[in-house]
Amino acid sequence: MSELIARDSPWGPLVVADAHVHFFSHRFFEILAGQKPGLTVEEIRTRIDWTFPPPRPQPLAEAWARELDRHGVHRAALIASVPGDHESVLAAVHAHPDRFVAFAMANPKAWSPKTFSEVRAACLFPAMHQYSIQSDEVRAVFEWAEQGNRAVFVHCGVLSVGVREKLGLPSPFDMRFSNPIDVQVVARRHPGVSVIVPHFGAGYFREALMLADMCPNVYLDTSSTNRWMRYQESSLNLRQVFQRALEVVGPQRLLFGTDSSYFPRGWNHQVFEEQARALYELGVSQAAARGIFAENLLRILAG
Ligand SMILES: [Zn+2]
Repeated sequence: MSELIARDSPWGPLVVADAHVHFFSHRFFEILAGQKPGLTVEEIRTRIDWTFPPPRPQPLAEAWARELDRHGVHRAALIASVPGDHESVLAAVHAHPDRFVAFAMANPKAWSPKTFSEVRAACLFPAMHQYSIQSDEVRAVFEWAEQGNRAVFVHCGVLSVGVREKLGLPSPFDMRFSNPIDVQVVARRHPGVSVIVPHFGAGYFREALMLADMCPNVYLDTSSTNRWMRYQESSLNLRQVFQRALEVVGPQRLLFGTDSSYFPRGWNHQVFEEQARALYELGVSQAAARGIFAENLLRILAG
């Protein structure tokens, strides 16, 4: 059992596990370069103003480990953010098994469970890869998750991938495949699989709540700045989002996340400050905060 690292919070020292950190490895950019004729990694490097990752994933893993130390973050789920980049996050997990957990984007149309044996959550983006979460090709991913007490992350709602836009990569995302309601049947068919819907449904807040209310194995991740709130019919602030989510889903099925992704910004502590303040102002207990900020994620990943 590793020593728990804690961070200052309105409740006092709090263990924090981030359910949503993108691991933008060199390989990630190599794969993106391959998605547009003529685009090279060298050109990507000149076009983005982030600290560019070195060719091997280990130094980036070290940078993230130091970043978690600096912010008093106990653990982070690192997401391989394009299909084919799972080995980069696995290298990070091998270097720091007590700090990182491997999540990886998968396209069920090219699914290979063998390469995912050490991955703890498969991240599905139905709108990006243009399939229905209800289709047969998704079944094998849920079976893989069920057999290994793993999770399946299903991105719903509005999807915009900043780095793809920056690089002019084709992004023909199909929003017809992004409704959380479509997840109900498959979540119910696999009650042993923890299903994570990020960003409170990213615009489908009501539907994400309905899904989670119907399926006890559905979890909502709180990550990002939640800009989707501007789509709501009546204005909604973060505190009201949490209040509604706590009423319907409860504190045991909310997973704190930041959606951190690049350096030099590193770990986006502002998301933590805002969410902790909103929850504290709602009168959330220390026990509930412990669940939201770490224990729920650690529990489902422990299988
Ligand atoms: Zn994200």
